[in-house]
Amino acid sequence: MPSETKPDPIFTCQMCGDCCRGYGGTYVTERDIQAIAGHIGEDPERFKSRYCQLSGSRYVLAQSDKAYCIFWNKICAIHPVKPRMCRNWPYIRAILEDVANWRIMAKNCPGMRTDVADEVIRRTVAQKIDAREKQAPPQGTKGVDPEDGV
Ligand code: SF4
Ligand code: SF4
Repeated sequence: MPSETKPDPIFTCQMCGDCCRGYGGTYVTERDIQAIAGHIGEDPERFKSRYCQLSGSRYVLAQSDKAYCIFWNKICAIHPVKPRMCRNWPYIRAILEDVANWRIMAKNCPGMRTDVADEVIRRTVAQKIDAREKQAPPQGTKGVDPEDGV
């Protein structure tokens, strides 16, 4: 999901929106729901019924035309508070477990470079995750979101 505007050695978002369409939906945590609802001035419970769908027991953002996320409008309309899943993309732990996951994900994300060595990918992803975990938590919260481990 579009999460980086600053180029780095392995990823530069092309703002194509492909990751905001389909692919099983965008999960939202309770913290995401509170943040997005607050941002758009909606009551969290109403937000769930108006902007989310259930996927099993978890909420995902609803989709609008052509399976795009309901908040996609040529850019992400909730960029400052977009869900954890979107913020973290494409630097996720699954790549540290198997760097081949980077190349699989890249098939659906033109911003992810595949012409770099696995070690560069692994090291960059590890640094990004490390930096994310060291960042100050959002105002009014304590510690790192335990659901932030993807
Ligand atoms: S698919 Fe990749 S390049 Fe396209 S908007 Fe999403 S993160 Fe950016
Ligand atoms: S919240 Fe924003 S970045 Fe995430 S899927 Fe929706 S439009 Fe894309």
